[in-house]
Parts: sequence; C-alpha cells; structure tokens
Amino acid sequence: MTMREIQAKSILSASKIYPYVINPYVGCQHACSYCYARYMKKFTGHKEPWGAFVDVKINAAELLRKEIRKKKKAAVWISGVCDPYQPLERKYKLTRQCLQILIREDWPVVIQTRSPLILRDVDILKEAKNVEVGFSLTTADDSIRKLFEPDAPPIQERLNALAELHGEGVRTYAMIAPILPGAEKLVDLLAGTVDYILVDRMNYQYADFIYRKHGLEEKKTEEYFVRVNKQITSDCCRLGIECTTVF
Ligand code: SF4
Repeated sequence: MTMREIQAKSILSASKIYPYVINPYVGCQHACSYCYARYMKKFTGHKEPWGAFVDVKINAAELLRKEIRKKKKAAVWISGVCDPYQPLERKYKLTRQCLQILIREDWPVVIQTRSPLILRDVDILKEAKNVEVGFSLTTADDSIRKLFEPDAPPIQERLNALAELHGEGVRTYAMIAPILPGAEKLVDLLAGTVDYILVDRMNYQYADFIYRKHGLEEKKTEEYFVRVNKQITSDCCRLGIECTTVF
C-alpha cells in the first residue's frame, strides 16, 4: 500500500450534508467494492487501485486549531469520504486530535465509520455534549460483507462497538447503506444500541461484477430495494426505533 504524509491547505470544508466536513485521510484502506469515494482518485493523481493508497493530512489538527477561530460554529461531519477510523488512524491519531479540538470548543460533531477503533476515543466521546456516532452497516451476513467489504471490520465488531458506545451514553445511529443481501436482518440486531437508523440504497456501479460473479443480480432490482426497505421500516416500528429512508 502507498502511504504518503501530506501537508493539507485546509481541513474544515463546507459540506452539502452538514455545514462542515473534515477528512483527515484521502484514500481508504477498507477498499469497499461499491465505494462512492473512488472518484477522489481523479483529483489525487494516484494510479493505484482504490484501497491501495492513502494520503495522510499530517497537519490536520494544526489547521483545525486555526480554522475554528475564523469560522462560525456549526456541525462537523467526520468524515464525508474515507473512513476516519481506518487502520492508519491507530498510528496517526488525526481523527482523535481533531475530535479533541472540536469537543473542547463545544462544536457539534457527527462521526461516521465502519471501525471499532473508535472505541479508543470513548474517553472523549462520553464527555462531549453534542456528538453522534454512526456505524455504516450493509448486511447482517458476514459472508456477504466479505464479498463486498473484505478489508472492513466484521459486522459483529461494528454491532458490539455500537452497543458499547450507546452503553456509555453516546448518541448513536446506524446507516444501513448500501442495502446488501442480509440487510433486512439488521434491525433486530441493532435494537437497544442505536437512537435511530438511516437507510439508503446507494449506487452499485463498482460492485456490479461481484453481483454477477456470485449470482446475486436479482438482489439489486428496484422491487428488491423497496421490499427490504419496507421490512426494515416495519421492524423499526415494531421495536420503537426512529427510521428514515433517504432514497
Ligand atoms: S469505508 Fe467508506 S470510504 Fe472507505 S472504502 Fe468503504 S465505503 Fe469507501
């Protein structure tokens, strides 16, 4: 894997989903086959396949300290693209440092990850007044997860991490996206560990070959998504979990 330490020019960027977004890393070691962030390859000059390079914004915390003094306080999303708790975060602690700065200054933060490495930062998270942690989940079936996300943490580890965070009093959510076969079994596993659930189908253009290879093509029809979403929303209703579909 190619890993490059870079000096970024800025870190607190405007976002369409939340007012701001912070991406401490460009590139993602999780290398999910459907990843929509692949388009970033175009802007980085990297020739390696998606998942085989990461640029590390080594000056992220230093920039953030300066930028929050100049910008209006509002919610920050960590991260919009590229997992903020991918394995390199264990060494660099850029997400942890940014989180510490934001929480100390009382900025609202929404974190989205697939990695239980976030538990390392539970000391900061449980003290924060305005923080939410979301885990992305695609299926309850780890054999399906291995087909599409072979380098991302197992589903059970994500569920355990959500339960632990929720138990520590941190506001948590699950983002079920993209809907993969087995997603319909997730809600029961999430009961008692999340404050709400979001559902999105997302696009499959990069995962098409996996669907074909494993004969799963019938699992990505419009009818399939509608049926699975119906089941997820009805399970949420049964269990009293707030649920929003975003497709
Ligand atoms: S964890 Fe997110 S950013 Fe990383 S490869 Fe998977 S979908 Fe892409």
